[in-house]
Amino acid sequence: MIHDFRNDGPRKVGHVKEVTSLANPIIKDIKALTNKKSREESGDFLAEGLKLVIDALELGWTIRTLVYAKAAKGKPLVEQVAAKTVAAGGLVLEVSEKVIASITRRDNPQMVVGIFDQRWRQLRDVRPKTGETWVALDRVRDPGNLGTIIRTSDAAGASGVILVGETTDPFSLETVRATMGSVFAVPVVKATPEEFLAWKRTAGVSVVATHLAGAVDYRTIDYKKRPIVLLMGNEQSGLPDALAKEADALARIPQAGRADSLNLAVATAVMLFEARRHLLTLSETR
Ligand code: SAM
Repeated sequence: MIHDFRNDGPRKVGHVKEVTSLANPIIKDIKALTNKKSREESGDFLAEGLKLVIDALELGWTIRTLVYAKAAKGKPLVEQVAAKTVAAGGLVLEVSEKVIASITRRDNPQMVVGIFDQRWRQLRDVRPKTGETWVALDRVRDPGNLGTIIRTSDAAGASGVILVGETTDPFSLETVRATMGSVFAVPVVKATPEEFLAWKRTAGVSVVATHLAGAVDYRTIDYKKRPIVLLMGNEQSGLPDALAKEADALARIPQAGRADSLNLAVATAVMLFEARRHLLTLSETR
């Protein structure tokens, strides 16, 4: 049974609960968020590290619980996020290092962990405009790949990531870690292949699918005239015919050497920076 943090009601600013026992039921529920089933049931997920928690709060994400290690007590930034959590009706837990290590399953854990509500964008609400680039991933399996793609999409200024078919969870601990915080900046959408294809027919987008048998050099495509959706295939089997045949272009990244293909996240990065080359300048970056 998942503890529903939403029913705990608002708390007084300054209220902090101390927990040292691994058997504490709230800690058990937080640890359960490392399982997909618990994340689905509760709609929550874990993000590790003070920077991520600050970023998430700045971007308006709803924090349910803030957990910090005793050693972080009194640090001004930690006190600030704790006050914000309480003001937002969330719970603040001050825990032993042993407890925070068991939540994140790490020997050298982050001192701060936040539990946030998941956010999913609906495909029907995605109406890309010219200059927008979306990434669509067919059945992405590897959390590291997905996290890296979300981070790279953020860095390239893409508008969001559409997860097509049965995929790894963008809100798993591994994926969130690999996004380095970009999970809070990049909208994610879930769709079946049928929903994606139906959306594609009315959304006014140009779908550039990448395929090892693609006939078009990815550098020769016009990425300016319509909003672009870069469609990437599954790590093992590549893009299925049902998706490939509906694409506006089947692009290939020329390769040399003995490697059969590029890693999915690397191929996505190459495509993203080419598709957005005309929009990215040094003066706009930090
Ligand atoms: N064995 C798979 C296949 O036959 O397609 C390899 C998949 S590859 C690891 C994962 C995805 O990355 C591909 O489906 C494609 O979207 C993209 N990709 C990798 N290398 C590529 C290349 N040279 N040109 C175009 N797309 C590439």
